[in-house]
This record gives sequence, structure tokens and C-alpha cells, in this order.
Amino acid sequence: AAASSVTVIGLGPMGRAMAGVLLDSGRRVTVWNRTAAKADELVARGAERAATVEEALAANELVILSLTDYDALYAILGPATGSLAGRVLVNLSSDTPARAREAAEWAARHGAVHLTGGVQAPPSGIGSPESSTFYSGPEDAFEAHRPTLEILTGTDYRGADPGLAALFYQLQMDIFWTTMASYVHAVAVARRNGITAEEFLPYASSTAASVPGFLAFYTPRIDAGRYDGDVDNLAMGAASVEHIVHTTEDAGVDTTLPAAVLGLMRRAVEQGRAGESFTSLVEMFAPRAA
Ligand code: NDP
Repeated sequence: AAASSVTVIGLGPMGRAMAGVLLDSGRRVTVWNRTAAKADELVARGAERAATVEEALAANELVILSLTDYDALYAILGPATGSLAGRVLVNLSSDTPARAREAAEWAARHGAVHLTGGVQAPPSGIGSPESSTFYSGPEDAFEAHRPTLEILTGTDYRGADPGLAALFYQLQMDIFWTTMASYVHAVAVARRNGITAEEFLPYASSTAASVPGFLAFYTPRIDAGRYDGDVDNLAMGAASVEHIVHTTEDAGVDTTLPAAVLGLMRRAVEQGRAGESFTSLVEMFAPRAA
């Protein structure tokens, strides 16, 4: 049976949105936050304010944590380890896979179960089944609490290794931030040429929309270890990125980002990959085991 009550620790924008949709669903919600005033609005809507972390842990088996990172988790739960036994900690704070594995061991030493979560939605996406959160850790604990977790977002269980949810989250972030940085960089070059972000938007969107097609084309080749230069090759790629660097310089804009990409491609060319696809960079980053 789904838990009818739940504790939420950490009331930043994410934790507040989560506690809010849990209240809307009819769950009894106990909240605790270091800065107590952030609970006021939730308490006005029917949440129970725990006076201490111990009280917040004692209130419910299911404890959702939404904190800046795992340091905050230890700062809050470290002094309250005596209250952890029997709790299921659903940790929706982002951090590395290694830190997630370490926290799972730490929780187990104190008799608690740790489920790692990686939320792929902003606060406005909480409460929407189209949003998705990666989970990993003991499957029985995940299944037992899935009905409650699905009130927050859709769920994507990645496996028993507690690091997996954090890993998949970081892989998404790797793509997200590099892509967003390149978008902002292109906007800067456009601006120095008198073009507004608004004017550039349809073109930026069209390039972004073309990405899935490239991913689908290259994916089976990468998994097969094939980097044929029949569609693109690194000699061409490096020349192309060099033009971006020069266009950026001419516009008086910082070249760090395209120069980094050019540096990677040149290194691959020096390693004898001029005739291979840019996807062969993966062999430079992470050579296959022989
Ligand atoms: P915030 O950083 O705004 O909220 C953090 C919470 O952590 C607050 O309750 C804060 O308490 C608490 N906290 C931080 N450090 C400590 C500490 N040392 N001791 C006690 N409490 C501490 O984060 P968000 O709500 O925006 O996000 C929460 C998590 O969700 C983060 O890991 C974030 O990466 C992730 N996330 C956020 C998204 C977003 O769009 N915001 C999207 C997807 C994931 P206090 O109020 O007292 O400062």
C-alpha cells in the first residue's frame, strides 16, 4: 500500500514544489527546513512543521530529501543518526555517483535505506507525469514507494546500484550545460553582429531539433566501434571549427568554448584520425578495452 504520509526535508524551490503537490494529493506531509520560515506557506496549506530533524524522521517511514548537495544531507542527518533506523531516504539532491554510493552505505550503517534520485525538471515541472526522475537503489523500496514518488514526476528506475540515478542525471547535465553554453556563445557572436537572440531563435531551434537525427545515425556505429569517414571526417571538422573560432575572434567574443572543441579535434588529427568521423573522439576520451 502507498504511504499516506511523507516527510520532506529541504524546502528550496524544489522541495517546496514537492511538498505542495504531495499536499494536493491528500498525503499528510511533515516538513523540516534549516531556515524554518520557508515552511510557513506549506504549513498554512496543511503541512505539519517538525520542530527538529529527529521529529521529522520519526513522523514517517518515507523521507524525501531535496537539498543542494550531499554535504547538506550529512550536515542535517549527521547529528540525527539515532533516528534513521527503518527510514527510507529518497534523496533527490544532486551530486556524483560516488557520493550517492557512499551515502547509501552510510544510511545502511544507520539502519536506513537510501534511494538515489535525479530530477530532470524545474520546480514548475513538479506534479507533472511528463517530467521524469531517475531512481536507483533497492528495487523493493522503490516499488513500495513508487505511487507516492509518481505524484512528484514520472519515474525511471535505473537499477540497484545507488550510483546509477546520479550517473544518468550527470550524463544528461553533461549534454545540457555544454549545449546551453554553446547556445549562449552563439547568441554573443550574433549580438556583436547586430542580431538579437529573438531573430536568431528559429535558427538555433532548427539546429537543436536536428540533433536527435545525428544521434540516431551515429549511435549504432559507435556501439559497433565504427568511425567511418564517409559522412564526416575530422580534417573537415577541425577546419569547420577553425572557422567558428575565427568568426568569434572577428566579433571580439571570447573563444574559449570553440577553441576547446578545436583543440580536441586537432589532437585526434595528430593521433592519425583525420580520416575518421568526429565520433572517434570517444576513443580518445575512453579507449575501448583491447
Ligand atoms: P536549493 O539549493 O535552493 O535548496 C536547497 C535546500 O538545501 C534548502 O532547503 C537549504 O536550506 C538546504 N541546505 C543547503 N545547504 C544546507 C546545509 N549545509 N544545511 C542545511 N540545509 C542546507 O535547491 P533547489 O530547491 O533548487 O534544488 C534542490 C536539489 O534539486 C538540488 O540538488 C538541485 O541540483 C536539484 N535540482 C534542481 C532543479 C531546479 O531547477 N531548481 C532542477 C533539477 C534538480 P535553507 O533554506 O536553510 O538554505
